[in-house]
Amino acid sequence: MKKPLRIIAVTAAATMLAVSCGVVSFTGRRQLLLFSDSEITALSDQSYSEFMSTAKISRDMEATQMLNSIGDKMVSALEAYMNSHKMGSALKGLSWEFQLVESDQVNAFCLPSGKIVFYEGILKYADTPDYIAVVMGHEMAHAIARHGNERMSQQSAMSIIGNAASEIIGSKKGSTVQALFDLGFGIGSQAGLLLPYSRKHEYEADKIGMYIMDLAGYDVNAAPAFWEKMLAGKSGSTNDFLSTHPSDSKRIAALKEAIRTKPEL
Ligand SMILES: [Zn+2]
Repeated sequence: MKKPLRIIAVTAAATMLAVSCGVVSFTGRRQLLLFSDSEITALSDQSYSEFMSTAKISRDMEATQMLNSIGDKMVSALEAYMNSHKMGSALKGLSWEFQLVESDQVNAFCLPSGKIVFYEGILKYADTPDYIAVVMGHEMAHAIARHGNERMSQQSAMSIIGNAASEIIGSKKGSTVQALFDLGFGIGSQAGLLLPYSRKHEYEADKIGMYIMDLAGYDVNAAPAFWEKMLAGKSGSTNDFLSTHPSDSKRIAALKEAIRTKPEL
């Protein structure tokens, strides 16, 4: 990189860092957010429509109804709490929706705009309302903690420093945002291609998800029990949820510790 360009790039990165910090709800962690909620929402909704246009909606009405009622209950509890604790702004750009799709895959995901998809296969493990709430809470947590935006922001900041300033700043910004989004959430018609979040994001989503379960009146101890059950049953089946949510005894121990030290919400 030539010197003037390097200076511009570093200055741009530093400016972005200075002006684009967010704070994660519940954990208070500071994070880099370079993209607007509206940009992320538009890309999420586009990706969601593409996915749903090829997915088969489950015909299991009972399970679909259960999923929706658990999701609605958790969203109501979360919104009431956040609005009364001055955290309502973190709900901006989120419009929750829950879908159960026909597939044996053990999987579930949430797009950054709050669209949560469960595959029928994961209900083999999430076979009680508390277990469903574990998956739901964890996925909701990724959305309210803006992990998608943060991951894209980190990648974009790295590429600025790595001499790609012109791709990020200026006319190509739109397509770069799309490319960064696709990198993490390029699900399109093919499910299970989502990039796993970092360990830090996974631990944080476990913790916040457990708080959301608590707010909605679910048994928080179901969270470590669910991950233990997933790990015990992982051999022999293709477990896509575990491939995007790598779990191990350390993660389960961290979750148990978070439950032990959970503040009164
Ligand atoms: Zn996760």
